[in-house]
Parts: sequence; C-alpha cells; structure tokens
Amino acid sequence: MTETCDTRRYLTGFDVGRVPNLFADVLVIGSGVAGLRAAIEAAGRASVILVTKGRIIDSNTAMAQGGIAAVMSPEDSFESHIQDTLRVGCGLCDRAAVERLVREGPDRIRELVGWGAIFDRRAQDLLMGLEAGHSSARIVHALGDATGREVADTLIRVARGTSGLRIFEECFAVDLIEIEGRCRGATTFHRHFGHQLIWARQTILAAGGCGQLYRESTNPEVATGDGHAMAYRAGLTLRDMEMVQFHPTTLYVAGATRALISEAVRGEGAYLVDRQGRRFMPEYHPDAELAPRDVVSRAILAEMARQDATCMYLDVRHLNAERFRKRFPTITRLCEEFDINIERDRIPVRPAAHYMIGGVQVDLDARTEMPGLLACGEAASTGVHGANRLASNSLLEGLVFGAVAGRLAAESAQRERSSPGPMDIRSDIAPSSRTMLDLADVRNSLRSVMWRNVGIQRVGPRLQETLEIIDFWSHYVMDKLFDDRAGWEVQNMLTVARLVTASAEARRESRGVHARSDFPDSDRSLDGRHTLVRRGPDGPRVWIES
Ligand SMILES: Cc1cc2nc3c(=O)[nH]c(=O)nc-3n(C[C@H](O)[C@H](O)[C@H](O)COP(=O)(O)OP(=O)(O)OC[C@H]3O[C@@H](n4cnc5c(N)ncnc54)[C@H](O)[C@@H]3O)c2cc1C
Repeated sequence: MTETCDTRRYLTGFDVGRVPNLFADVLVIGSGVAGLRAAIEAAGRASVILVTKGRIIDSNTAMAQGGIAAVMSPEDSFESHIQDTLRVGCGLCDRAAVERLVREGPDRIRELVGWGAIFDRRAQDLLMGLEAGHSSARIVHALGDATGREVADTLIRVARGTSGLRIFEECFAVDLIEIEGRCRGATTFHRHFGHQLIWARQTILAAGGCGQLYRESTNPEVATGDGHAMAYRAGLTLRDMEMVQFHPTTLYVAGATRALISEAVRGEGAYLVDRQGRRFMPEYHPDAELAPRDVVSRAILAEMARQDATCMYLDVRHLNAERFRKRFPTITRLCEEFDINIERDRIPVRPAAHYMIGGVQVDLDARTEMPGLLACGEAASTGVHGANRLASNSLLEGLVFGAVAGRLAAESAQRERSSPGPMDIRSDIAPSSRTMLDLADVRNSLRSVMWRNVGIQRVGPRLQETLEIIDFWSHYVMDKLFDDRAGWEVQNMLTVARLVTASAEARRESRGVHARSDFPDSDRSLDGRHTLVRRGPDGPRVWIES
C-alpha cells in the first residue's frame, strides 16, 4: 500500500548514528504560555531543552488581547467561575479539570505579578473586565488589550534567566521519538544545525493550536497543528478534534489579515449591527452581544447570508472614545491603520477560526497515555473547555496545566536513572517519484475548503467531500520527503484537517461550537461523551466514547 499521512510513522528519514544527538531530562516543544510555564517549572529540578520553530515570541499567546479569567476579587467565587465554564462547555467539560483550572488560577496570576508582569490597575486594585459567558467581571488584563504580549514577555524573561534551561529558536520538532511504547524525545530540524535527535526522559508537547487550517483565522503562521499531527503519528489518542472555536469578531478588510477585535469590546458595551445600523443580537440570545461565542458567530453568519453581506459591524460610537482608546490601544491603532475612526465609523467584522478545543487526550496531571509524554495548552485536551471554551480561560489553562506538566516531568525525570538515549533507531523512507503538487497552492486551497466545508456550519455530504479532497492532496504530498518547515507544515495540516473533518463527520449532533445543519439539535445521549481518534492500520479510526 502507498504510504499516506495515515500510515507513515515518521515524516523524515534518519539514522541515529548519522545525526547529532542531544540530551536533556525534559524536552519542551513550544514557547507559548504552556511551554514556557512548563519549562520554567521543570528547570528548577531538571535539565531542560525548549525548542520552538520560529522566534520565541511567535505564538498565539503573544497575540492574546482580552485577558486571563481568574477569581481575584472577594465579590467573585470559584463556584461561579466553575459554573460559567461548565455552562458554556455544553455538557462536555470534565468537572475535575475545570475545578483545578479555576482553583489554581489565582496563584498562577499572583506568581506572574511576582515575576514582574504588569496588569492594569486602578490604584492598588486589579482592573477586572467582563467578557461573554462570565457572570462576573473577572478578566485580568494588561496594557489595555495586549495581555498576551505582557504574559509572553514576562515568561520569556524568566525563562531566559533560569539556569538549566536551554532555548533553541528556529528549531522545528518534526516527530516524537517512541521506542517500545515510551516517548524518548523528538526528531528536530534546526535552521543552522539541521537534523538532530533530542533525547529526553520526559517530553512535554506544548505546540499550540491549528488555526491556520482555516482561510479566515486569528492565529499566527505558526499555528499549523504540528503537535496534534506528531501525536497522531506516534499513535496517541486525540479527543474532540471537531471542536474548533470561531471568534465572532475579526476586523474584515479584504486583503488584510484577520485581526481580532476582542470580546472585551462587547464587554464594554459595543453593539453588533448590520449595514443599516440595526442591532440584531437581541433576536438571537437573551445575552445579546454577550452570548457565547458560537451563538454570536452563527448569528453574524446568518445575518450575512440573509442580507447577502460580506460582513457585519461593531458599533462603539456611543461609548466614551477617550476611555475606549485607553482600554483598547491596540484595537484603536489597528482601526486607524485602515482609516476607521472609532468615533465616526462602524468597525467591519466577521468570524474567523480562533481556538482548537480538541487535542491530545491527557489526564488531570497533563499525562498522555504514552509513558514519558505530557501535553498542555492548546495542543492538549484536558476537558476544561468542553464543547465551547469560555472566553479568557485558555491563557489560564496554559499557566495552570503548564506548571502541572513541568512539575510532574521534572519529578519523573529525577526518578529515572537510565540515560535518556541514544538508542538504536532509524527511519528509512524511499523518495517518491510521483508528481509534486504546488505546496503553497495546496496550503491555500486546504484552508479555503476547510473554511467552506468544515467551518461554523457543517453538513454530512460536505464533510464527506472534504475527506475525499484531503485524500487526493495527501496522495501527492504525504509520500514526499521534505527538508524544510514549509513542507512539514503542509503535511501536518493535511493530517490535522483530516482528523477535524472525520471527527466532525462522526459527531452527528450540534453541540457548542460544532453545528451540523443536518443534525441541528443536541443529542442528550451524547452528553459527556467525547469523540476520540487514533491512527489505525489504514488511516484514522474515529469513535465516540461509550
Ligand atoms: C489573536 C488571539 C487572541 C487571543 N486572546 C486570548 C485572550 O484574551 N485570552 C485567552 O485566554 N486566550 C486568548 N487567545 C487564545 C490563547 O492565546 C491561546 O489559546 C494560548 O495562548 C495557547 O497557548 P499555547 O502555549 O498552548 O500555544 P501557543 O501560544 O500558540 O504556543 C505554541 C508554540 O509552539 C511552537 N510550535 C508549534 N509547532 C512547533 C514545532 N513543530 N516545533 C517547535 N515549536 C513548535 C509555536 O511556534 C509556539 O511557540 C487568543 C488567541 C489569539 C490567536
């Protein structure tokens, strides 16, 4: 049988004796909030290598705007944050994981403050924002709407000052090394040093999300689902891969990248209106503009279809402009770049892919089913987001479960006496003589198909059609041997697109972010039952938990 994305174990050929071998107690893949927090935690007790495929700052984390949800005020309560998370998660959250997230959150925020993170305050008190789905104002934010940058800068500064932690930028993790069922590190490609094997007693997968799968996306270029694809090839179970969250409001200027207009703007009182200035959200949900993201995204799409419009609008003209500029300096600047005057003009918006809820299945301590491998952040499925992520819970997830993963990895590595490697391993892959497709074209076309067929509204026949299209492209792309990031990214994107589409096909109901027009209602018999997918002999095997 021809090797496809579903049958090939490693993307590259290698031989342990012919490439440099490096060693660490703990290898961390990814430099977002989850990877950095994990690496800092582990480095106190173990030698750590952190690899990241671009610059250290290239991540979803650095782009986060609105803030971090946490119970920091006496008027708020853990139970209220837990209940909000469970309600928005539509019957698919793991309550124990949500409890851990919410209860450990405030300590992680205080720790960040102790490390020098500057969050917005009035006098001594943290300023807390309100966002959709939250019943209290509990969103800690920084520099108005640049929370992610402040979090990333703080963690990077701490990581760079931590002894025992080596950081390799421009170092692409290609595949997890797995020997006799245990993870032993990863095969990597460094821009200057080429292929390397990094052997580790414990590996933490924190490679983030896959928003680049969609033509309309808030995510940066690095979000190509490499972590999900690597885990899939290594035989791990991925969970809820159909659950892709779409953000309702990204700036819509044809030809420009889709920049996020944070939820917090609606939290401050902005209205969603159509071209005629009619406010439409009250017709869709009692919470109007502050309804959960999936509801708002679908409402915008419905209005666009009904009115044959390319976008809807955010109206902030009734808000205090001075206050708006101060609270949202990045968004104000962004609008100005396109000559949108927030006092005079409405802001054109439409939804875009934003967050991958699904990921590598982990337990409460970030452990995957493969000994030696942990996962955290957007690459993992902890069960905290259920079928819909509550706004601003993901930076929190990265902080909380990053720390959990780092601690456990260091403790486990300390207990292991044997050397992490090298071990006898090689991957022989014969180069293919089949026609080569234009990679850039495949990448763009895949993103368009995913947006059209596996986006906010899904239907069985379109999902089937998408699987066939992915099969076709895979046939010509997955058998190739690439020596650069662009090639591996497209291979990973094809793999992850297939997992998302096959999982969306398998879940024959609508729930949270997953909306099927052929199954418009939630099926109560599927409450609490996750979609699982794993590599089978001929391709992905998808099933719904019993
Ligand atoms: C525009 C925007 C705004 C957002 N706003 C908020 C918000 O206000 N509040 C909130 O809670 N969440 C927000 N989010 C979501 C949140 O930022 C992310 O979910 C979170 O930061 C994910 O953290 P992470 O560490 O898992 O992944 P990331 O931050 O994406 O980091 C992943 C890292 O892995 C690296 N990587 C990927 N593949 C490889 C590979 N093959 N080899 C080596 N390295 C690799 C990447 O380069 C990157 O460094 C926002 C997201 C976006 C895009």
